Formats: sequence, structure tokens, C-alpha cells
Amino acid sequence: MKYLRKSLIFIIIFILLLNLSAFAETNDTTVKKGEDFRGLWVATVVNIDYPTKATTDSQILKSEALQVLEYAKNTGFNAVFLQVRPSGDALYRSKYYPWSKYLTGKQGVAPSGGFDPLDFWISEAHKRGLELHAWINPYRVTKRSSGEPTHDFASLHSSNPAKKNPSWTVKHSDGNIYLNPGLPETRQMIVNGVLEIIENYSVDGIHFDDYFYPDKSFNDNETYKKYNPAKKSLDDWRRDNVNTLIKDVSAAIKSTGKSNIRFGISPFGIWANKSSNPKGSDTKGLESYSSHYADSLYWIKNGLIDYIVPQIYWNIGYSIADYKKLAAWWENAVSGTNVDLYIGHAAYKAENPDPKSPWYGTAEIERQLYLNDSSKIIKGSIFFNYNVMAKSAALTNTVKAIFDGRDGKSPKVNVSISRPTSDITTSMESFYLNGTSDPSQPLYLNGKLVENRSSKGYFGVLVPLSVGKNTFTLSQANSSDTCTITRKASSGSEKMSAVEIPSSSTFPQSQEFWMPGEKIKLSCQAPAGSKVSVTLNGKNYSMKQISGPTNPSGLYKATYSVEYTMPSFSGAPRNIDLGAPIYTVNYKGTVKTKKAPANIGVIMKGSPYYAEALYDVVDTYNAPVSGNGAAYELYKGMVDSVTGMTGSYARLSSGQWVFKDKVKIYSQKTPVNTVVRKATYEVGKDNDVFELTMTSSAAAIVSFDGQNVVLNVSAPSSAAMPKLPGDALISTIKDSTSIYKSEYVLTKKDGATIEGYYVEKTDSGIKLVLKHKPKVQSLTKPLTGITIMLDAGHGGSDPGAIGPLGTAYSEKDINLNLAFKLKRELESQGANILMTRTDNSTISLAERLTLSRNARPDMFISLHANSMPDNVDISKIRGFSVFYREVFSKPSAQLVYDSVISAHGKNKHGVNKKNFYVTRNTWAPSFLIESDFVPNPVEFEWLTNDKEQDKLAKTISTAIVSYYMQ
Ligand SMILES: [Zn+2]
Repeated sequence: MKYLRKSLIFIIIFILLLNLSAFAETNDTTVKKGEDFRGLWVATVVNIDYPTKATTDSQILKSEALQVLEYAKNTGFNAVFLQVRPSGDALYRSKYYPWSKYLTGKQGVAPSGGFDPLDFWISEAHKRGLELHAWINPYRVTKRSSGEPTHDFASLHSSNPAKKNPSWTVKHSDGNIYLNPGLPETRQMIVNGVLEIIENYSVDGIHFDDYFYPDKSFNDNETYKKYNPAKKSLDDWRRDNVNTLIKDVSAAIKSTGKSNIRFGISPFGIWANKSSNPKGSDTKGLESYSSHYADSLYWIKNGLIDYIVPQIYWNIGYSIADYKKLAAWWENAVSGTNVDLYIGHAAYKAENPDPKSPWYGTAEIERQLYLNDSSKIIKGSIFFNYNVMAKSAALTNTVKAIFDGRDGKSPKVNVSISRPTSDITTSMESFYLNGTSDPSQPLYLNGKLVENRSSKGYFGVLVPLSVGKNTFTLSQANSSDTCTITRKASSGSEKMSAVEIPSSSTFPQSQEFWMPGEKIKLSCQAPAGSKVSVTLNGKNYSMKQISGPTNPSGLYKATYSVEYTMPSFSGAPRNIDLGAPIYTVNYKGTVKTKKAPANIGVIMKGSPYYAEALYDVVDTYNAPVSGNGAAYELYKGMVDSVTGMTGSYARLSSGQWVFKDKVKIYSQKTPVNTVVRKATYEVGKDNDVFELTMTSSAAAIVSFDGQNVVLNVSAPSSAAMPKLPGDALISTIKDSTSIYKSEYVLTKKDGATIEGYYVEKTDSGIKLVLKHKPKVQSLTKPLTGITIMLDAGHGGSDPGAIGPLGTAYSEKDINLNLAFKLKRELESQGANILMTRTDNSTISLAERLTLSRNARPDMFISLHANSMPDNVDISKIRGFSVFYREVFSKPSAQLVYDSVISAHGKNKHGVNKKNFYVTRNTWAPSFLIESDFVPNPVEFEWLTNDKEQDKLAKTISTAIVSYYMQ
């Protein structure tokens, strides 16, 4: 499409100024009439767009009109189509038609204060440089909504021409009333209505949509007989009726001498299919020529209209009605005539949530506009409809970016690939590319159009990788960027150079201890297809091959394994050494043996074997792996029995595992029998405290399931339980003892809230602290006295998730921005805010947790933005999620989540339980926010939009206030 550069527009304005007197009547539209036409349909029927609700209040009618016009201007439109006759009525003062019920609620009722909507729309549109076209539905008299009576003459005002002349109407099978197109009287009525508008209002055009005959079953037999002197077929006669109307309207408009007023029609997108008419398009859909009796080609060829806007409401490539084929067909239809071609776009179909739909996101609209740009004949677009456009920031931004590009307003952005950050080698089969581009120009990846870019030109594309070098070039008119991703072939089985058992493959590599009856796996590597066995504690066991090729030709590495049950022993509890396993391989007669470098031992129950925490905080794990996060923590000096040992881990009597190097392990002849001397319970201002006085320092771990706080102490004795104060958070304490430990179950009172819990080591034992929920003391500043710690995730050398701008603007920056905004919001509510980082410094997860442990805030919020692995199409993943670990953290996490989902319309990724390092704080409600996906272009744009983040901070803050107000 041809469009005018800004400089050219200035020249035109200059010329207009020179000829001021001659052009005094024209409005200040900045685009030459008909060029780069950008229209917006504003439907009034059933209040689709305007007014949102029928009202006589002219103030509301005015402000809603201004809202539409401001939107149109700000988005870059230059014309608005206001539906002024939705159904035999008017949105202006008319002597032929009653006031519309969609305007005021009842047909014939005028808006308050003599307000004339059309007059207001025109003057306000012109002030903003927008053309205002009066959109008329010529034949429709009623538009029945479900539940309303059929053929509802009663709803029509006495001044309605259909009510005055029922003989002009046809009661159609769809339940509606139509003016009969075959009657000369109705045509004259429609012409009068058009002339009235032109004479009384400075509209820029008269516009009809695709509603002509509703369908073939129209009941007009009598009229057909009476008004068909030439004995035409019914179809031709009906087309003639419509053509006559168009001819009459066209002539009437010309007769006024107002040459600036343009007349146009937006028919259904298919005139006729090739199969039924050789002049038709290569399509298979409904035909307006035979269904609506709308012969657009006749109007074009006879110059009856100034422009045509086929409603091509289908996607490019759609098998029944392909946008591209139809656009080409209409180009051909207008070529050689003076009729301008604009395309009617189905904006309402965009942003389909299904990633497989061509209408997913805004890409289809983008593709269609680029296709129009490549045409010399298509001169503009009209979008249906205002409401869906204005509601969708993504669609608005997409369309605006393209308009801005045509106006030369877009900043020049060079194509740049941000992900991968450099050329890489991977074993993945696909890779997600991210980067930025000039949004006003199409972007190509190895020659193929890149879709679903954000309005700022951010892109994200999943590309398949072939084995070897893959080169990806992203290009636009004036810039390009290339990256190379090498995909490694998947490694087959590893070869061995000789028959052997590698020492490093034998189990164990360091001292193992297990209790009698426990099962462990003895394993080693040897050539596949060998006979392998192991000897331990004087017995030999044959082993099974569990990996590697089963029928190898040559020496390939394989793993062998056998389950071994720890033997039982009698006598005094002690540790027994079983020695090191000796592995033997026999590969086709070649025999080799290898002794494992470390021993296996048995720990008898009650054996005096201990671990003492060496550091201020020692994490414990549910299994001898740390990858899933820690479960509890012990404090320096705490002692517990050791009941197992494997790899780098030691197991304590509680069943928890600790890193061996975080504890001192020792044995002595007699067991350490810690005695609990005294138990007390006190209710304080902020906490309840259950305290145990003990003879030596025992390990203690505590958990809370929402009902019971369970404290386990590695002291096999208890004391008399204290009497509970009346205002205690708990109703009972039950204690019990066993060989290694004592257990205390504190049951929460019904209705009480425990907002946190933790064990503290004291000089004489331990304290179990149960946190109260802070009470709101001030309604104006409800968070007064409440301390909240904000944790901006990542930072410094850790960029967090990488998106379209790479490390120049990554997750760590997004998190810190939001943290500051949230700080400001929460402080305005009276909160005391602590932050784990306030600048771009590198802070470990342990440091963050330590800051929280030392400060003991009332709430801890970790701020993050999400990502996905490199082989996932993140452009199709959107959403907001919150994570928590402790049950009592869920209510606040849920409230924040629900508030953000409803206030920001985010995709739901749920409130999830997960043991993240920074959600482990048991001393206060703690949760982690994952706000949107950084590598998703549209979400990245949202995450980096200052105003949106202001709003997000406000939403989170409001949710937290309401949490404390509950
Ligand atoms: Zn993160």
C-alpha cells in the first residue's frame, strides 16, 4: 500500500494553507482523502461499542464518545465509522427516524439537554484530525436479541417509518422486521434519511455495511409480482432493487454538491465463488451476490461508490476463504476504476488463546497489514470493532506500531539476537531464539516472516536444529544479525580400551554406614556382556548389567549392580566394619578384580555415634541429595546420633541428612543421654514461646501442618509439661519419648493463627517460637508496625532469565525495579521495608535466607520473573504464578495471586507448593512471585513497562493490606 511520509503530509498541509479560502470548509484531516485510510468501526447496535449502556445522560454519552475518539487518535487511526442507524432509528435528530433505543434505552426518547450525538462526534472527531463517517444499516427495522418478541412492532416508536407504514415491511423468518427493498417508497425513505444527514451534518461520508437482503427466503412475492415489469428472475430482480438503491443514494449525495462526502460500502468478503460464477473468487464460502443480493462488482464498474471495504474476516491460507486470494480478487475488481479499495479486518478474531490457531496473538492481523503494504492497490484498512481493539493492549500496540512505521515515527532499531548470547553447541533438538527488531518493518528469519513480535519489535522463535552447524539470520530492510548453533550428535555407548573395572566406578568411594536390614546397591562398571560379581563380608554375589549395549561387538562400558541387605549383629550397640567390596569381571575368559576404595559398615541401633553441628546454620535434607532443597536447619553445637552415612552425607536419628563436612562426627563409649529438665510456655506480645531446659545441647527440628506443631528433640527423655496460659495459641501439648528422641505435639487452638515458627538454641536448651499474626493498628496506614522483607531475585553476575534484550535488561533488573515500586507502595501503607538487595550486587541464596533469619520480618516476598528451558517455545507460554512452602504462607500467597490474576488478566499458572531456597523461611509467611515469562516477547514488554509495573506493585500491596485486614 502506498502511504504518505510525514514530510509529504506537511507539504500537503502547506498547499492547503495556501489555498485556504478554497478549502475553508474541509476539516484538518492530515491525510489526503483515501490514502492510507485507517478506519475504526464503532457499532451501536446492541451496544457493541457505543454507548456501553443505553442512557439519556448526555454527559455519559459525551465522555464515552471522547474515549473512543481519543483511542482512535492515539492509535493512529484517521477515520471513525459511527453506526448512526442501527435499526430503523437514529443517533441524531431526525424528522424521519425516531431516536435509537440503543442510545437512550427506549426508541423515540431523546438524550438529555438537547444533546445531538452525531453533531458532537463530528466536531470532536474533526478536532482530532479524524474523519467521521455516518454508518447506516438501510433495511433493518428490528434487531431481535434472544428472549425478545419476534416481529416486535410494539417496540417501535409511533414516528418509526415502519410503524407508520407496515406495508413497507417484511416479517422475516429470523424474527426481525425489514424494510422491503423492492418498494420504491422504502428506497425513497432511505435516500431521504441519507440526504437529511448530509444537509444537517458535516459528515465525511455515508457508509453501508453488508446487511442487504437477510437471505434468500425473504418473503417478497407480492412485491415481486407488482414491481417486475421486465419479468426478471427473482434473484436478478432483488439485485436490481439493491442496485437501484445504491444508484439513488449515490445520485442523491452528488446532487448536494458536497464533493468531499464519500459513499462506500463494506460487503461480505466473498462476492461469488468461482464454482458458481466464472468471475468469482477461488473460495467456497457464502456469496453476497446470491445470498444478500449485493452486487459489489456492479457498483464498482458503474462508479456508484467511492470506495469498497470487503470484510475479509478470514486468515491467510484459510482453505474456504483465503485472505490472500480474496485480497487479490478485490484488487482486480477495483483496478482501472476510481473506486478505492480498503480491507475490513476481523480484529475481533485476534488473540485467540489457542497457540495452534492462526489467530493466536496478533500475528494474523500483522501479516494481513504487511500483505496490504505490499499491494499498490489496497489503500487502507477498517477494523471491526472498537471495543475489542481498545480492550487488547497487544492488538492496539501491534496496529499502532505498523501505523507509526508508515508515518516514519518508529525509532530505528537494529536487529539483534539476545538468546543465545553467543554461538553455542548443544545436544538439544530445538532452540528458542530471542531478540529485538524494528517493529515498523517485517522481520525475516532465514527469509521467513517472524510472527507474534511484540509492539516494540521483540521476538521469540523456536527453531529446529539439525545435527551439525545451524545458521540463523534475522533480517530487516536495513539490518540483520546472525547466530550459529551447533547440534552435537547424541553420544552412543562409550568404548573401553581394555577389560577392567575402573576404580572410580566402584561403590563405595567413601565410607558407608547403614543400619541392619537396610538395603543398598553395590555397583561398578565393566565391559558390556561380562560376568560380574562382588564379594563383601565373606560372601559372593553375582551382579546384573543395568546399562550399556546388551549384544556388543567390542568393549563397551556398562554398569552392573546388585542389591545388598545389611546384616544383623547381636551384643552391645556398636559400629561393625564389613570391609571394602571386591568386584570381579569375567569377559570371555579374561578375569580382573578391583577392590572399592572405601569400606561399608553397620551401625547398630543405639550405637554411640554422633554428629555435632559445626556452623551457625546447618541445613538438613529429606534424602542424601541437596537438589530438592533443604527441609530443616540445625544450629551450631546441636548434637544428634548418626544412623547412616553415604557419599557426602550423614543421616541423623531424625532421618534427616546433613553434609558430613558441616558436622563433627565422633563416637564415645557411653551414649550421650540428654535429659530434659524443665518445660515452660509463655505468651508474649508477638510470639508464644515453648522452652525446654536440657542437660546438653540436643538437635531439634520442627514442622507445622497447619494444625499441629511437631517438635522432635534428640533427647530420649521429657519433663512435666507446663500448664498453658488461657491466651496461648495452642490448646494442648503432648509429649512422648523413644530410643533416640522426645517428641512434642502442640495442637493449635481453633481459630488461632500461627504465622511462623522456629527453634532457637539457647545456653540451656532450646526455645520453640510460635509467631502471632500482627494486628492492624491504623486504618489509614494499615501496615504500620509490620516489617516486610523484599527479595529482588538474582543480581550482579547472575542475570536471571534472559529475554529479548539479553543481559542489557534481564530478570535481575525487572525484579529490582518491581522491588523498589513495591517498597514505595508498602511504605505508603505504613510498612517497614527491608530489602535483600538494593543494587546490582551478587547475593547468594544462603545470604538472602540469612538476612531474613536475622531480621525475622513479618513477611518475606521474593520477586522473580519466569523462564523455560531453551528448547521450549516460550513465545506461546504466558502467565503469573506464586510459590510457597509452608501451609501458613498459602493464604497471603493466594490473595496476591488472585488479585494479580483478576486485576491484570494474567494467564493462570497457579499457587504452587515448592521448596525453593527463599520460600523456606518458617518464621513468617514467605512466598515467591513469578510474574510473567521474560523470554516471551509480549510478556517481556509488559514486564519492562514502567506503568504496568507500577500497577502491579499497587495490586500486590493492596492484596497484602487486605491480608492483614482479614
Ligand atoms: Zn528468577
